[in-house]
Amino acid sequence: MATILAVDQISIRILTMKFADIQGQRREAQPGLSGTCPSCGAAVVAKCGDLRVWHWAHRGIRVCDPWWEPETEWHRNWKNEFPADWQEVVHFAQSGEKHVADVKTQSGMVIEFQHSFLKAEERMARETFYRKMVWVVDGRRRKRDSAQLLKCIGPCVWGNPPFILHVTNHEECALFRDWNSSSVPVYFDLGVRQEDGAPVFWRRDPISRNGRVYLTPVSRDSFLKVHREGLDAEKIFSEGVSVIVEKLRRAAQVPQPFPPTGFLQYRARKRSFRQRL
Ligand SMILES: [Zn+2]
Repeated sequence: MATILAVDQISIRILTMKFADIQGQRREAQPGLSGTCPSCGAAVVAKCGDLRVWHWAHRGIRVCDPWWEPETEWHRNWKNEFPADWQEVVHFAQSGEKHVADVKTQSGMVIEFQHSFLKAEERMARETFYRKMVWVVDGRRRKRDSAQLLKCIGPCVWGNPPFILHVTNHEECALFRDWNSSSVPVYFDLGVRQEDGAPVFWRRDPISRNGRVYLTPVSRDSFLKVHREGLDAEKIFSEGVSVIVEKLRRAAQVPQPFPPTGFLQYRARKRSFRQRL
């Protein structure tokens, strides 16, 4: 969506996007079309080349939404999982501040798809602005992230749904460091699949703190179902995790550490764990 240009040492983003307004209608880019930016109202032009997905771009250099990041195929594919009128929604705060949410569902949940690195202050600003939101993080941007995260996954400390995974040393995992102290659910999209081939996310619960990261594998299908249907599952999920964390705290349960494990080994261990219950 945006290209960052260094001009007089100031980063200026050129907003490019999937939708523009043409005579009051949201339209995707088609050759020869021009329209206006739904966020700032400036003129935008359809860019329909071979190299990038077709998109709209502002004419000339313009600061539109400083939070917008360059759109990748990964972004576009994710946004396309939701109805068109939920994508690229201008979200207003009471103060009049506005930003373009990647997806805003009918129930008001904002889903931000984050590919590039985000400074902690900027992340917090967005979480404060949107309030009811989740992040989906591209865990394949850096080569080692996926392997690092899977290696850091500790023992399963609670069986049967919802179960959680306890990560003992988040310092070894760059993704956990990047998203440390996030106050909303974060879904790491590592491109990992379960044994049956179904893609799965790792959901970091916001209760994670002090180096303890509470992660749960969540299938991509259930993530989409929950947010397409506007179910209040994030809150219920987090409440479930809180109950378990509190029980663990009271019981001062110390899980027996498993050696570092990949996803498939984890699945096998989860089964054997359940059999022991
Ligand atoms: Zn604009």
